[in-house]
Amino acid sequence: MRICKHCECEMIEGFDVKVEGAGYGIKISNGTGIFSKRLEKPKVAICPKCGEISLYIRNVDKI
Ligand SMILES: [Zn+2]
Repeated sequence: MRICKHCECEMIEGFDVKVEGAGYGIKISNGTGIFSKRLEKPKVAICPKCGEISLYIRNVDKI
């Protein structure tokens, strides 16, 4: 469960990240170019009260 840092209410998790126009989404990596290691696709949590969004990945143990 994620809590909004502004209003301390429970955030809704599990939204996908989409880049408008491109349609590829975004990925988090720890390098650039062909040697970059692809990590988990980020998910988004949204606060239903103030609209704050929070990016997170599920399997942090892979990092
Ligand atoms: Zn909030």
